[in-house]
Parts: sequence; C-alpha cells; structure tokens
Amino acid sequence: MTLGKVYLIGAGPGAPDLITLRAVRLLERADIVLYDRLVHPEVLDHATGAERIYVGKAKGDDMQLRQERIFALMIGHAREGKIVVRLKGGDPFVFGRGGEELLVLKDAGIPAEVVPGVSSCISAPEAALIPVTYRGITPSFGVFAGQQGTRAKRAQVDWEAAARIGTAVFLMGVERLTLIVERLVAHGRSPQTPVALVERGTLPEQKVVTGTLADIVDKAKGVRSPATIVVGEVVNVRESLLATAEAGAGDSLIAAS
Ligand code: SAH
Repeated sequence: MTLGKVYLIGAGPGAPDLITLRAVRLLERADIVLYDRLVHPEVLDHATGAERIYVGKAKGDDMQLRQERIFALMIGHAREGKIVVRLKGGDPFVFGRGGEELLVLKDAGIPAEVVPGVSSCISAPEAALIPVTYRGITPSFGVFAGQQGTRAKRAQVDWEAAARIGTAVFLMGVERLTLIVERLVAHGRSPQTPVALVERGTLPEQKVVTGTLADIVDKAKGVRSPATIVVGEVVNVRESLLATAEAGAGDSLIAAS
C-alpha cells in the first residue's frame, strides 16, 4: 500500500478565519484530523470528509503517553495510506513540539510537511494594538516560554536576555506571572516597564490588561490561560492608538471588515 502523508498545520491564534488558505485546502482533503485544545471548532468544519480526533491536553494526562499516542496515530494512519492533518494552535514550530513531531515522522519514513500558522506571539499583542517592534522604540523582540516541558526537561528561560531585549513576549506564562516579573526586575528591568496581558487574543471574548512590572501582578489577577504577556515600551503604543481612535472604536482598528 502506498504511504499517506502527514501535514503539520498551524491553525492560527484563535479566530477561525486567521488560518492560511493552504491549511484550509489540506483540511478539505484530509482523512484524519488530530487537533489540539486551542484549535477553534469552526476550523474543523473545513475537514468535511475527515475523522476528527482530539489529542489535546486533559487534566492529569501523562504528557509522555499523550505524545506517544499522537505519534502512533500519525504514523499508523499514514501507513494506511491516509492524509493526516495534525492541527496545532498558532504556528506549529513555536513551542508545542512541532519540530519534534516532524523529526519523528521523518525518522519513521513517513512523508511529512509543515504548514506555517499565524502565531499568537505576534498576533495576540497585535490584536490588542501592540506592535512587537516599533521604529524609535525597539527593533527587537524575543519570545520566551513562561513554562515548558516536564520538570526534568524544563528549559530555563534566559532571564538576562529577556530583561535586556526591547520587547519580551511570554507564552504559557499566566500561572508564573509573579515569577516572571520578579526575575525580570532582578535582572535589571525597570519596575516602570509597561506590561500587557492579552487573554484569548483575536477572539470576541479577548481581554487586555495593562500595567507596569510594579503593579501587573495585582491588576492581572483575573486573567486566565491562554494569554500572552508582553513586556516593553511598545505596550504604550496601544494607549496612543486607543487615544487617537474614535471614542468606542478602540480595538476595531484591526477588526475584520
Ligand atoms: N504554537 C502556538 C503557541 C503554543 S503555546 C502559537 O504559535 O501561538 C500556548 C500558548 O500560546 C498559551 O499558553 C498562550 O500563552 C499563547 N496563546 C495561544 N492562543 C492565544 C490567544 N488566543 N491569545 C493569547 N495567547 C494565546
């Protein structure tokens, strides 16, 4: 039997129309779709002829077992000649083990391809009118994992780099906001540095909380995952944009027309 193929696809940050045309065309052809927790249900509607299998996190899951099940599903179905779509939130290569999955597939001799997606690390700030770079403020931004991997394998954040770079974006960081703030200040970032948290960016229920390193922990108490944390002077651009927007028009500056 001829081998099928696995497509590792980015579903975008949240809003179901922020997915690429290539992704939609592949979903339409898919036999199997393996999707994660942060994928919007409407995205799955493109996969009219596919069996849809949820492989996202559930409470109390063993991460290793979960990952092995995903590998087994991808490889098993591809060996049966099927077109398998592995659908991930945002971009497949920004956290979430996309690179690892592609490598395992290649090792197993399964044809596989990656399809980029709109990553929340840029688009969640953007949906809150925060540009990660801005002329005259900073030409650099870095993306950091607030929390990643099993305890044993947890990669350390390079706090020095995070404290120094113009814009520091943290994903998976809401539960560790206190620690993030502490470490940044301990590594020399001014407590007056502006900070924003963008919860469920690009979705209708999007929520934005702004403050400084000095007061954000208090202000952001109600913020829940998924949220993106942005640290840097670029956060002030949001205030300027909101101030110049017509009263009430606010975030609709980038709303879908
Ligand atoms: N590959 C994904 C990131 C996976 S890590 C990407 O490129 O976007 C998951 C983290 O992404 C969440 O903990 C959160 O920090 C961020 N995230 C995902 N969706 C988001 C959204 N709609 N709004 C804000 N942050 C989001």
